[in-house]
Amino acid sequence: MAANNPAKPHDESCIFCRIVAGSIPCHRIYEDDVVLSFLDIGPVTPGHVLVIPKAHHATVMAAPAELMAELGRRLPKLARAVTQAVNCPACHVLLNSGVEAMQSVAHLHYHIIPRRLGDSFHVPWPAGKLDTAAAQSLAASIGENLK
Ligand code: 5GP
Ligand code: ZN
Repeated sequence: MAANNPAKPHDESCIFCRIVAGSIPCHRIYEDDVVLSFLDIGPVTPGHVLVIPKAHHATVMAAPAELMAELGRRLPKLARAVTQAVNCPACHVLLNSGVEAMQSVAHLHYHIIPRRLGDSFHVPWPAGKLDTAAAQSLAASIGENLK
């Protein structure tokens, strides 16, 4: 990773860093100092867009809190613009963080995926049942990690 600007880490081997740098083209929908948003090359529904920080951070676990706040501040306006453009009443705002969580590009990004009733996109959600005893110790363990 090139570290010539520690405030804006850049990884020349990263597809999204190269899109930010302009060396790979994209269909840009929004850009400012912090964020770039563009159409996903493999849309799962029409209007599927990505919202990325210009700085390279691999996952939400690795990202600075201030950067996540800056990204979050921009999401409502982007989600409104995208859903209105494709006339959808709903959308997913997804962030896959880590290979095991289906992240294929290791540069932090949100997906905005417009949804409508009867569309072809399906997200499996095999809900289990929360065990009360396990839940207590799990909640306590997460709480410890937050200290
Ligand atoms: P992930 O699986 O990491 O959450 O999502 C990565 C997304 O990036 C995928 O939806 C994929 O279609 C998209 N993608 C990968 N390479 C490119 C590219 O070069 N250009 C654009 N516009 N999207 C890309
Ligand atoms: Zn990157």
